[in-house]
Amino acid sequence: MSEIGFVGLGKMGLPMAGRLVDAGFRVRGYDPVDAARGAFADIGGTVTDSAAAAAADVVILMLPDSDVVDGVLFDGGVAAALAAGSLIIDMSSSAPLRSQEVARRLDDLGVGFVDAPVSGGVSGAVAGTLTIMLGGDDASAARATEVIEALGAVRHVGPVGAGHALKALNNLLSATHLWATSEAVLIGERFGLDPATMLDAINTSSGRSGSTQKKWPDFVLPGTFDSGFSLALMLKDMRIASDLAHSLNMPVALGDAAVQRWADARDHLPDNADHTEIVRWLRHAAADTAH
Ligand code: NAD
Repeated sequence: MSEIGFVGLGKMGLPMAGRLVDAGFRVRGYDPVDAARGAFADIGGTVTDSAAAAAADVVILMLPDSDVVDGVLFDGGVAAALAAGSLIIDMSSSAPLRSQEVARRLDDLGVGFVDAPVSGGVSGAVAGTLTIMLGGDDASAARATEVIEALGAVRHVGPVGAGHALKALNNLLSATHLWATSEAVLIGERFGLDPATMLDAINTSSGRSGSTQKKWPDFVLPGTFDSGFSLALMLKDMRIASDLAHSLNMPVALGDAAVQRWADARDHLPDNADHTEIVRWLRHAAADTAH
């Protein structure tokens, strides 16, 4: 049974690390939040008292963003604690150009790096049905796959950074169609249509998407707004995609407009709002125009 390190036991990291325990790995996990470490111990993980103490031949990161990834690796002592030949698997949704820089810095230490961000949400993490977008060289990708295939379907999409680029672009699409879906459903509602009836029809029509098939039925219609993916993290991903477009000198007019709208919602909702709560903000904004 091989040992792996896992840093970041949040909404996604905890169930993912738990699945690796269930798959037979000895997992050394770290998170600064006491409750997260306690929950991991409860499901059979070994808890460490620092990120550096979770160092192992393979270390998975499931952290909020590139700033935290850099901090954990290079200020938190993880990189220094790794033996040459170790492998970092960054499953966070990080920024691709920064991940390429991280890979170069680790390569100087003889440590490998792959990016392996995921889609599928907390429910996919719990069920082991995530889509994993893997970026890296063939040998590192094969080595990473032996571990992360316990978490979902692995797609090797290109060299280092490719996974993080694709993930950000996926979420730019996801956020844009959630906003568009929400505007359409609220317009229909004011006209007198029933939202559930609209979604049923759209879901066998050309306007369907993950927003009409999952997010609205599961989290908006019941009024629970509990997808487990925060608005702040969605906005972070959209900005990664937009920044990537600008760095490539590509026009991204609709994407930039979507970023603006989501940033507006973020300013008006609580810091810890779920991303599906943009519908609350849209309803609130629309209320002023009712007559
Ligand atoms: P989260 O905020 O629930 O978890 C992040 C964890 O990182 C927290 O437990 C936090 O304590 C920990 N952390 C922060 N700083 C740390 C540090 N210095 N050292 C160690 N741990 C630290 O976020 P999440 O929803 O689990 O998302 C994690 C990543 O996965 C993000 O990049 C997010 O964009 C991505 N993602 C999330 C979802 C989702 O549905 N929640 C889906 C796909 C991808």
